[in-house]
Amino acid sequence: MVPPPVTVRAPAKVNLHLAVGDLREDGYHELMTVFQALSLNDEVTVAQADEPGIEVVGDGADLVPDDASNLAWRAIEALAERAGRDPDDPRVRVVIRKGIPVAGGMAGGSADAAAALVAAAALWRMEIGRDELSEIAATIGSDVPFCLHGGTALGAGRGERLVPVLTRHTFHWVIALDKGGLSTPTVFAELDRLRAEGRPPRVGSVEPVLEALATGDPRQLALLLGNDLQAAAVSLRPTLRRTLRAGVDAGALAGIVSGSGPTCAFLCSSADAAVRVAAELSGAGVCRSVRVAQGPVHGARVIGGDDTP
Ligand code: ATP
Repeated sequence: MVPPPVTVRAPAKVNLHLAVGDLREDGYHELMTVFQALSLNDEVTVAQADEPGIEVVGDGADLVPDDASNLAWRAIEALAERAGRDPDDPRVRVVIRKGIPVAGGMAGGSADAAAALVAAAALWRMEIGRDELSEIAATIGSDVPFCLHGGTALGAGRGERLVPVLTRHTFHWVIALDKGGLSTPTVFAELDRLRAEGRPPRVGSVEPVLEALATGDPRQLALLLGNDLQAAAVSLRPTLRRTLRAGVDAGALAGIVSGSGPTCAFLCSSADAAVRVAAELSGAGVCRSVRVAQGPVHGARVIGGDDTP
């Protein structure tokens, strides 16, 4: 019998704190980051099929590869190997519905990879725990384990070594989507260039951020949001300075470039405040579009079809 297709929803992330260490010999930077999963999602459906393939629909779909280089497909190949299937012919069709901005610094591709792992594991009725899925996730990309787990977490190494972080209450965000994306490696290279030239500001220690999350007070957290990549993203896209100012002028507690940008995330004092900030920001003409989101939300989860594992 052909198993029913499985659909999984996976969240975007914002980095509340992103400390970038110096360039390592292996070409990576050592990171210390606090991720939060936000209610901005992609949905990935995996179905058994004789004709394998991948289709991407939704906002920015034309910018996403629909071949074996898609991170969701790479995730399926890696899982097929673990399942004892032919990774070159996993016999599935994948449909990705994008709700997360592409190349926006919100881990859209990583969310798709996490969703594909959960969906294929359910479709193939694999007995595999979250820890093992997480290990496979880390081989696909540094942010994939977090998109799998969701919530709020401290990430070390390249961001793939996770420890859950205790938070109280829900935080309310406004997300400003920019025109076009920024390539993550280009933003890291720009940070290296800025650091070679001078001393761009570095974020402080992570402990106060963890304390603010534990109290659940958005005003306290707003004072502590920080991202070492922000100076590099703003240097490559100077109009982001205007966007960040416009969000605060509209009533947000604080604004930050999300990850490598160019998406900006604004922390607000309440759900109502977020709606007001979003309305005013979308009228300010500084960004392509505006979304309201909340966090933390859960990681990649089945929303249709079979509910295992
Ligand atoms: P991050 O925050 O993890 O650095 P990002 O959010 O800035 O990433 P993504 O949306 O993940 O960026 O996409 C970065 C690039 O990865 C895209 O330009 C695209 O070429 C490639 N890519 C591969 N698979 C996917 C996918 N499923 N969805 C989006 N982009 C993908």
